[in-house]
Amino acid sequence: MSRVAILMYHGLVRDPAALRDIDPAERPYTLLLDEFEGQLDALSRAGVPVLDPEVLHGCLPAGGGVVLTFDDGHASNAELALPALLARGQKACFFITTGFVGQRAGYCSWQQVRDLAAQGMRIGAHGHTHRFLAGLPAAQLREELDCSHAILAEQLGAAPRQMSFPGGRADADALARARLAGFELLHGSRPGALRAGGPTPSALLPRLAMRPGLSAGRFTALAQARSGPLLRARAVDAAKALARAVLGHERYHRLYTRLRA
Ligand SMILES: [Zn+2]
Repeated sequence: MSRVAILMYHGLVRDPAALRDIDPAERPYTLLLDEFEGQLDALSRAGVPVLDPEVLHGCLPAGGGVVLTFDDGHASNAELALPALLARGQKACFFITTGFVGQRAGYCSWQQVRDLAAQGMRIGAHGHTHRFLAGLPAAQLREELDCSHAILAEQLGAAPRQMSFPGGRADADALARARLAGFELLHGSRPGALRAGGPTPSALLPRLAMRPGLSAGRFTALAQARSGPLLRARAVDAAKALARAVLGHERYHRLYTRLRA
């Protein structure tokens, strides 16, 4: 059975030495440009179509494929990922943390976000300040969602239709409020894939986190949503969810950052 897997990337670096400048919490999700380009080429060799993220708004192609997404709005999205995608005629959706744009070192400027859109990339939201939205009081939840939606609409001249949740965390309130804000498709980060040939589910969408160091074979198997790699990814996710439940989010995050530093 064919599936559509949504792959979740973050920042890229050209040079391994540049990894030292990346926040330790983000290193486990930062790929070398060579590795990212190798993955795009592996998809092409395996005959896995890279789908325009817009297909998620209609019936998913029966042959399956992957959708590429990037979270946070790192400057490398525009500087490194965009040229790699354009060279291959591929599109991705970039989920932008609107409060970081032009404000934080290492993140896109508004000109870079507009360039991504002008070059045919899809732009979605990732909250305004990157606060985790599950459990947030109603007023702050509304602010994060309405603000990120309104700012992108104003800066790009078109309302964003998709968003991804910071940390992948969403509860029923956050999902309902996101729909009220105008987002039609909501991306999480629980591992999984969509059934090809039907509509995209309205629930929080599963995605596959791309971490450095996957072999081409394992990457391709994961991108094709084969059951072995998918089950392994789900087992790792379940273990992390358990650790978060036991330790509490803050202690879990501190421990995770220290282990990965
Ligand atoms: Zn994020």
